[in-house]
Amino acid sequence: MEPRDKGKRTGPDLAAANRAKVLLGKAEFTVAAHALKQLPADAGVEIACAGRSNAGKSSALNALSGRKDLARVSKTPGRTQQLVVFVLDPERRLIDLPGYGYAKVPENLRAHWGETLGRYFRERNALRGLLIAMDVRRTLSDHDRAMLELAASRGLPVHILLTKADKLGRGQGGAALQAMRAELAESDPNATVQLFSSTKGTGVDEARAVLAGWLSI
Ligand code: GDP
Repeated sequence: MEPRDKGKRTGPDLAAANRAKVLLGKAEFTVAAHALKQLPADAGVEIACAGRSNAGKSSALNALSGRKDLARVSKTPGRTQQLVVFVLDPERRLIDLPGYGYAKVPENLRAHWGETLGRYFRERNALRGLLIAMDVRRTLSDHDRAMLELAASRGLPVHILLTKADKLGRGQGGAALQAMRAELAESDPNATVQLFSSTKGTGVDEARAVLAGWLSI
């Protein structure tokens, strides 16, 4: 069965979702790394989270973990070019990538960060999946596409949360989901997508079940 149809046909695996909830609830901020050598040893499994600033990524991480302010640590000013590491257990980690979309970073620093991010995606053995948050009312940004390409270059699975789904009616939300699925089917067959709302709890179990698979729990 195609993974992208799983939620639709059978509903999410609630046992898996619950395992992810418990594990994500244990997340501990460990380090904000601006260079790859500052990351924990490249062993075990790791999931990266990305999204443009204001996409709702922090709210999503909080909802998925059941923790009110888990991702607040990632929003510290100056963390626009750091990989924020949350250890879940000795074998598993969540890597919160900085929200993109602010153009304030000088060009040379941006290039350096792009290089670091590229190397992280190319070299990090532990990386098992990329979660991207994007506002359901928007289309993929250039940066979203760049992230998809980084993932595709190593065959990494991607799961996209169409956030703030509560802002759209059911019909509009469904249409946005179908449009994104159609777009990804062409360009990124490794990517799956779902509707998500942190405020309403929509899609939380579906996303947790995906993460449980990536985390091998
Ligand atoms: P981040 O910059 O990607 O981490 O985004 P945040 O999680 O900080 O959210 C940005 C803004 O969108 C905040 O004002 C949130 O309250 C709002 N927001 C986030 N998720 C939702 C959601 O599911 N529904 C609605 N209506 N607003 C949301």
